Amino acid sequence: MLGIGKTGWIEKDAPVCGPLDALVKPLAVSPCTSDVHTVWEGAIGDRHDMILGHEAVGQIVEVGALVKDFKPGDRVIVPAITPDWGALESQAGYSMHSGGMLAGWKFSNFKDGVFGELFHVNEADANLALLPDDVDMAAAVMLSDMVPTGLHGVELADVQFGDDVCVIGIGPVGLMAVAGAKLRGASHLYAVGSRPDCAALAREYGATEIINYREGDIVKQIMELTHGKGVDRVIVAGGNAEETFAQAITMLKPGGRIGNVNYLGSGDYVKIPRVEWGCGMGHKTIAGGLMPGGRLRMEKLASLLSTKRLDPGKMLTHRFNGFEHIEEALMLMKDKPRDLIKPVVIL
Ligand code: NAD
Ligand code: ZN
Repeated sequence: MLGIGKTGWIEKDAPVCGPLDALVKPLAVSPCTSDVHTVWEGAIGDRHDMILGHEAVGQIVEVGALVKDFKPGDRVIVPAITPDWGALESQAGYSMHSGGMLAGWKFSNFKDGVFGELFHVNEADANLALLPDDVDMAAAVMLSDMVPTGLHGVELADVQFGDDVCVIGIGPVGLMAVAGAKLRGASHLYAVGSRPDCAALAREYGATEIINYREGDIVKQIMELTHGKGVDRVIVAGGNAEETFAQAITMLKPGGRIGNVNYLGSGDYVKIPRVEWGCGMGHKTIAGGLMPGGRLRMEKLASLLSTKRLDPGKMLTHRFNGFEHIEEALMLMKDKPRDLIKPVVIL
């Protein structure tokens, strides 16, 4: 990222490895919709000459003197969020906000990301996980961000056995939310999306109904399907601050929860409809969060792939080989052709 709205290639000095840290060479990377918000919406403010990217698996090139569990040559899963584990926010259970709100998100936010020949990982023992041999490397890139984020939407909505769940937005994050809601025991699972390939994959991951937001009001559609009752949980993984929360609140039963993982890249306020929110008394909770990162999370989620409980590799619609294709993959993510779900670049 050269500046807001501008990308290109730059030369930078190799990062320096601190005593707890690692330097990693990427083996496979993927661009994220968040990179698009960052560059083309300027959503986190201006950044100059910052290397983008926060989804990677890689190979360790160097470790600091105090790193115990990793060594050069190890193939590792790199989470998008790499907290400072000693921070008070981490001790309070919110490691993704270690050092300040959203500050556990370092790659392509506060420091250079993973689209470089080498990148730096803080607190390697706490933030990296070994890539299991039986997990496909391209699929494993989805462990950096898409899997943990989609599943975090499910956690934030606190999906219970038998719940009726609606997932709004079925790009890769929403698709992982669908898969996660199924793993958590959702019964009726409504997926809101418009692209046929995403809809087909949502069904594969467990959606029982597809709601097309381009074919009429989604609240009306949900209310018809639920005989006027609405749903127990809503996971927001797409849409906007103006319209989507109004829809989510309206379709939610009293006592329900909204789990938002959508990155609201523009606008000043989120709109909550007063009456549908029970005039403030409807017990309709909105929880929004950045995905948790770190080693334990990565190891656990990788075991979902090893045991074949989850296959995020099905989302990889576009595969590239070679560093020079990273820019093309990023532009695909920006332009979102109808047949794109997620690109991956093998290096
Ligand atoms: P995506 O753009 O591929 O998917 C979003 C989907 O929402 C698209 O398919 C789009 O067609 C759909 N959509 C747009 N308007 C809609 C509407 N009005 N109603 C329903 N659906 C609508 O993006 P993604 O890669 O799946 O990521 C989803 C969001 O999650 C992005 O904003 C991304 O930045 C964010 N994100 C958050 C975290 C986190 O930690 N919380 C991590 C990664 C990504
Ligand atoms: Zn991301």
